[in-house]
Amino acid sequence: MTNPEAGLAVFGGTFDPVHFGHLRSASAVRDFLGVPCVKLVPSSIPPHRENPSSTPAQRLSMLRIATCEEETMAVDDREISRQGISYTADTLASFRCELGVTAPFYFVLGIDSYATLHRWHRWQDIADIAHLIVLDRPGYPQEIPSEVQAWSENRLVEGPEGMKQRAFGCVCRITLEQVDISATNLRDKLKSGIRPTGEMPEKVIDFVIEHGLYCE
Ligand code: ATP
Repeated sequence: MTNPEAGLAVFGGTFDPVHFGHLRSASAVRDFLGVPCVKLVPSSIPPHRENPSSTPAQRLSMLRIATCEEETMAVDDREISRQGISYTADTLASFRCELGVTAPFYFVLGIDSYATLHRWHRWQDIADIAHLIVLDRPGYPQEIPSEVQAWSENRLVEGPEGMKQRAFGCVCRITLEQVDISATNLRDKLKSGIRPTGEMPEKVIDFVIEHGLYCE
């Protein structure tokens, strides 16, 4: 059990499949923020994209395999247990209830996701629950829609120190470890029969092959 006052970081996504872009980013962000744990939260039905090609249970299993030896990473299945469309605002609100009102709480997302923020359900409420940590990602555009840019202007901070004094409300854009891997590219490779060694954990690749995932 971690001390809630030390803060918590949550990394949401489809994880179809989980890869080293997610895992290395999660470690880097944990060290950057100085939090004891990063929680990876797979969505049940993501609101802004096609349904994943593997089932929620399979994506959850792959995440558990990927993180089973990582003490500072945990998988949280609340979006999958809740079923239905996975709205981030609801998920963050449920974490906030558990954490209490004063603990720093960080929601981590890649720049590609942040660039779509203005289309999310209750997007302007998100920074009233958590800080947003926006990770640069190789090969993805840096442009942010003007609506999001205007909204974030008074919230932007450069480093972790200011955020540790507050429970929520800041937006921090950072460049940490740059890992040029995407799940789309991995699915294409797996479909072509290419083993993506070095791009995702070997045990997850074995799971994918054993369950015949991403063949079509
Ligand atoms: P897809 O290619 O299917 O869109 P993905 O690789 O982007 O998948 P997701 O599960 O959709 O993976 O991403 C979850 C979160 O992780 C998003 O906020 C995304 O921006 C971020 N993310 C994914 N890959 C990286 C990476 N290589 N570096 C930094 N952030 C990443």
